[in-house]
Amino acid sequence: MQLQGQSLIGFETASRNGTKFRAMNPATGQAISPDFYTADAADVDRAARMAEKAFRIYSRWTGKQKARLLIQIAGAIEALGQELIDRTALETGLSLDRLKGELGRTCNQLRLFASLVEEGSWVNARIDRADPNRKPLPKPDIRSMLRPIGPVAVFGASNFPLAFSVGGGDMASALAAGNPVVVKAHPAHPGASEMVGRAIIEACRQAGGPEGTFSLLFDSGTEVGRLLVQHPAIKAGGFTGSRAGGRALMDIAAARPDPIPFFAEMSSTNPVFVLPHAAGERAEQIATGLYGSFTLGAGQFCTKPGLVLLGADKGAEQLSAKLRELTTAASDHVLLTAGICKSYERGVEQRAKLQQTAAAKSKESGFRATATLFEADLDSVMSDHDLADELFGPSTLIVRYEDRAKLLQFAETLEGHLTATIHGTDQDLRDYADLVEILESKVGRIVFNGYPTGVEVCHAMVHGGPYPSCSDPRFTSVGTQAILRFARPVCFQNFPDTALPPELQNGNPLGIWRTVNGDLSRDPLS
Ligand code: NAP
Repeated sequence: MQLQGQSLIGFETASRNGTKFRAMNPATGQAISPDFYTADAADVDRAARMAEKAFRIYSRWTGKQKARLLIQIAGAIEALGQELIDRTALETGLSLDRLKGELGRTCNQLRLFASLVEEGSWVNARIDRADPNRKPLPKPDIRSMLRPIGPVAVFGASNFPLAFSVGGGDMASALAAGNPVVVKAHPAHPGASEMVGRAIIEACRQAGGPEGTFSLLFDSGTEVGRLLVQHPAIKAGGFTGSRAGGRALMDIAAARPDPIPFFAEMSSTNPVFVLPHAAGERAEQIATGLYGSFTLGAGQFCTKPGLVLLGADKGAEQLSAKLRELTTAASDHVLLTAGICKSYERGVEQRAKLQQTAAAKSKESGFRATATLFEADLDSVMSDHDLADELFGPSTLIVRYEDRAKLLQFAETLEGHLTATIHGTDQDLRDYADLVEILESKVGRIVFNGYPTGVEVCHAMVHGGPYPSCSDPRFTSVGTQAILRFARPVCFQNFPDTALPPELQNGNPLGIWRTVNGDLSRDPLS
């Protein structure tokens, strides 16, 4: 595909009036052609207004129509194949294998949302039938269901250039719910963004989607994102990235004359608790798994285990020795951007007072970092919580605890995270039952005897958590429940049957599951 470097607004390309920027090759630190052009305020306005207009039509599409569109998009992205994988690898430094897997995940994610909306019960249809004979007052007929929220602004993430970028989970869930989407491309992979954007637009065209159902805007700074979130036609936002960026955009969304929900997935250190019996039985095995997990994708996953709580026993000693051995033997990692590389170096410097283990850094050019293992005692971390903040990149911090009481005290002080992991035996679980209770209030997902990286895209997944891991702990950004972020309940009181949406009509023409007078049923009503 010939890249043109222009924003895509509705079915058209934007002008080349904006400032030029280029993608960088993280492996060499060199710029990659072609030039990309930032969108301007008029482009943002046009994309948002077009999305507003498209919403009137697209929000009325049936589940079957939306499913066809999502499947069409999946096919169009898949058809980009090796060309997309090669360009994404060039722009991100991620391996071809990783990107091949991510492409599969992206398309499966779209198809999963297609099956969800085609089946249709996700709308949570509820019917409370009228009772004209109720005393002292007759009971009205009340019916409710989820309806799309309105045009959604989506921010592509740097660390998932396919699965959480232009055609990723936020876009898929917003479109599945019935909302047009305006994506602000991440400037670290503009070529991959354009390729996917063009595929989505072509799929929209073929599926008969109204113009403006999808637009893609480029920017190398923060202006386009700000204007987009402030635009009156935009009704919600989805973001994955830094705490600073997510917080700034949350605040912009909240400061609007009409505040809108902004779903930001930000920073998480994902504590791992290695309990005494597990450490005694599986020290080397846990160390190897942890090493693989904190260096996977050069440690650039929001679920990277960045904090490992270890006891003071022999097993814990063995485990940390094995982690030191693996870390020393490691080779360089290429990081996604110059900014991420600088933040990583700064973070390592800020932890200078901690014991550090790292391999020697190679002299190769590009945005490179070596894996780093930090070690500290619990009191040092309790007195300086910044030490336990997210450090994006291939590092983790071992924290040694003396006893159970101290460990629980530490767990109580944790801020919100996406995940927590427990390595334990049945005996450990009995001894530390209250740890599970504490963690339940701190994170969205608790992993047992595993590793937090590798987030399954499925119906039951929760990829969210209390602030600052996310802006709203009630929702997930991965899995089919992510659709709930971009829908809102609407209630119809005493409506004639023919004027109701099909989901709420007596005959249940779509055959979906509904809650009728409190009971789940697919039966038509007389
Ligand atoms: P980022 O700086 O948060 O940027 C993400 C997106 O949001 C970019 O499109 C960025 O635009 C935009 N943005 C950021 N601040 C904004 C603001 N104030 N107003 C409007 N738009 C704004 O994330 P990143 O560039 O991917 O990486 C930087 C750091 O984020 C990393 O070092 C890491 O700490 C963290 N990160 C965390 C995760 C995670 O999953 N926890 C994922 C990725 C990154 P521009 O780039 O055009 O300015």
